[in-house]
Amino acid sequence: MPASFDTFGLSPPLLRAIKSRGYEIPTPIQKDAIPLILDGKDVLGCAQTGTGKTAAFALPAIEQLLDEETNRHHKLSVLVLSPTRELAVQINDCFEDYSKHTNVRQTVIHGGVGANPQIQRIRRGMDIVVATPGRLLDLHGQNHIDLSTVQLLVIDEADMMLDMGFIDDVSKIVHLVSNRQQTLLFSATLPEEIQTIASDWLSTPTTINVVPDAIPIHLINQSVFYVENINKDLLLIQYLFAKPRARTLVFVRTKQDAERVARNINHAKLEALPLHGNKSQGRRRKALEAFKSEQAPILVATDVAARGLDIDNISHVINYALPEYPEIYIHRVGRTGRAGSKGEAISLCASHERYYLQQIEKLAGISIDVREWNYDDFGNLLQLERAMSRKKGKRAEKPENTETAEENESGGNTWVRDGRGKKKKKKKNKRKRQSKVITMDDITPSRDTDKYAPRKRTLD
Ligand code: AMP
Repeated sequence: MPASFDTFGLSPPLLRAIKSRGYEIPTPIQKDAIPLILDGKDVLGCAQTGTGKTAAFALPAIEQLLDEETNRHHKLSVLVLSPTRELAVQINDCFEDYSKHTNVRQTVIHGGVGANPQIQRIRRGMDIVVATPGRLLDLHGQNHIDLSTVQLLVIDEADMMLDMGFIDDVSKIVHLVSNRQQTLLFSATLPEEIQTIASDWLSTPTTINVVPDAIPIHLINQSVFYVENINKDLLLIQYLFAKPRARTLVFVRTKQDAERVARNINHAKLEALPLHGNKSQGRRRKALEAFKSEQAPILVATDVAARGLDIDNISHVINYALPEYPEIYIHRVGRTGRAGSKGEAISLCASHERYYLQQIEKLAGISIDVREWNYDDFGNLLQLERAMSRKKGKRAEKPENTETAEENESGGNTWVRDGRGKKKKKKKNKRKRQSKVITMDDITPSRDTDKYAPRKRTLD
């Protein structure tokens, strides 16, 4: 097995780019996949983001283009399909960086933004296109993109494509790129549907599996609270208040949960933003930027929106809901504790989720500490009470309809105009702090339902 990138036979421009990214040793998936892909083999890779899989397919893809550089005229040769816009952009950024010392051209096309700039770039001639399926089919349907020249097709995050209902679009694209020589399919999990798809679309593929042991799960402090859905928001907010944190990623099950939970956290005067597939491209980008810059240090996200995003320095991962697939848990908590640092992951587990917890412990070979939730378990709740009562106080203090109020910046007094327009000073009402314990009236609870009864799933 090669211990360095030099042994793959990659061209000097690629080795320079690898060096400038600071990669010294290939990751396990890179060790396995790069030689196979350079050899022209089809590959079925069971690997998640964080394992280095983008470089595992991007480096040999660019290398193959360099080999035939003289008789190539920036015809589309490599097509990468990605389920989300963010992932597509991230993959394209990697291609751009790895090929920066070559004359290979790449671009990204995805929905949620105007199509014209994308059409213009395709017209200029691109060797590599990273695309989300819907926009690609639109542009193909309008004759803006020729897929008949594609030699290498990469389908990334295939299980997410399936979950998001994109698999029919992907299937159409697979048939449109019928002149291809090679197909690579990557998936975080390999359920039966994905294996069937792989056997239809790939030709005698080599399977590479690098999922569980690539993530140093033992480095992460993990614990679980047994709490029913109805109390999860309250516990979450208390936990967020009590814990000194850097960036915190909260995983929820649905888009509605992401909105509601983020709203409740904001009500408690903590900065949180939701991230899910229903948000416009601009809002998703802004949410990510705010999270990365720690303006909003709490991101409440669905798996689909958060998966694959390469965000460093996450100190806490909170599983507001436990995932159905134990591999996803490992992937979620693997976002903290990166680069050898100790991260912390907590899970809020309702009684209907205990089965998922058992499956996680079985797969990871660990026993997750159970923590008791007592109402004032997290120390002083005063801060939370204050924040909540400030919010309520503000609403109650709106100026009355006959008078307009202006805040005096220097003294904090309020000037009001009387009925004849004369300014008079009004003594500021001393706001009484309501000494109040947070109740469920303050927080919109999640639905407490047994609708999500666990579906049994075999680990194969
Ligand atoms: P990926 O799974 O492709 O999203 O990669 C996850 C992270 O690992 C990215 O930040 C990559 O830049 C980084 N990475 C990929 N390959 C290597 C490597 N061989 N050595 C160090 N970091 C790597």
